[in-house]
Amino acid sequence: MPITSKTVACAVIGDPIHHSLSPDMHNAAFQHLDLDYVYLAFRVQKENLSETISGFKALNFCGFNVTIPHKEECIKYLDEVDETALKIGAVNCVVNEDGIFKGYNTDGMGALRAVTEGGFELDGKRIVILGAGGAARAIVFTFAKFAGKITVLNRTFQRAKRLVEDILKTVKIPIIAKKLIYEDLKAAILEAELLVNTTSVGMYPHTEETIVPQELLHEKLTVFDIVYNPPETRLLREAKSVGLRAIDGIEMLVYQGAEAFEKWTDKKAPIEIMKKTVLKSLKKE
Ligand code: NAP
Repeated sequence: MPITSKTVACAVIGDPIHHSLSPDMHNAAFQHLDLDYVYLAFRVQKENLSETISGFKALNFCGFNVTIPHKEECIKYLDEVDETALKIGAVNCVVNEDGIFKGYNTDGMGALRAVTEGGFELDGKRIVILGAGGAARAIVFTFAKFAGKITVLNRTFQRAKRLVEDILKTVKIPIIAKKLIYEDLKAAILEAELLVNTTSVGMYPHTEETIVPQELLHEKLTVFDIVYNPPETRLLREAKSVGLRAIDGIEMLVYQGAEAFEKWTDKKAPIEIMKKTVLKSLKKE
């Protein structure tokens, strides 16, 4: 579909932004459904964030994604923020709702869909989360609605502690913060059914790194790694090699994107096209 005077614009903002796969993923989806939409990527520095958002409003963008480092900061420039995104403290998707810019967080829902479609039922399960950054916050807030117990282990203990304190204001299941050290990691994994890596460990170019020694991967464990470049991290490779169910970060990337796509277009997102496009773009890098 050619760009016309009626083309509807959306975008992603972040800094850096040139590695983002979102433009390829969303433009392929728009083309597949023959929608007159275009998705652009803009590198936006912190001092220009407010003006960028005002500019998108003036130009009547249908919405935009927000990525590192603006997910928290952008909140103060939006007209409204969805309750879950407010609790998480981060927005990754903004929707123009009749001129009102409303912020959402689709990372948690993307992760939830990735594990459930991957065949894992969260209800009452014990979950280990590695990391306590932005993605971890969204995932812990979402999974806590279903899980039986969550242990958050992070290299910087204070960050895990803060996450857990925030979430305990709204949920009643046991949620524990631990420093990421071998003994605590071992104890948490041994009693868990789901292990989620939300740290950037294992991400390109450090693809041979993993936090979890292979001997801790027991037969009752499902492993979900949200790193998507490479799609098969060392952690997932080792999980598969001992016969465990392994869910990759591409699934979450596509499902969080699909949530945004559906909010902007009111159409069902073409998941398979989005997934294929992302994998193809990763191969080109
Ligand atoms: P973030 O807020 O910067 O958090 C990074 C986390 O990784 C922190 O917990 C940090 O621990 C930990 N970490 C970094 N290096 C470490 C190391 N060497 N050893 C142990 N822990 C380490 O980043 P984020 O936004 O949460 O993103 C984290 C990862 O998830 C990135 O790889 C990102 O690409 C991926 N992600 C994927 C999706 C998806 O859709 N698949 C969505 C969002 C993010 P400290 O607190 O100690 O620094």
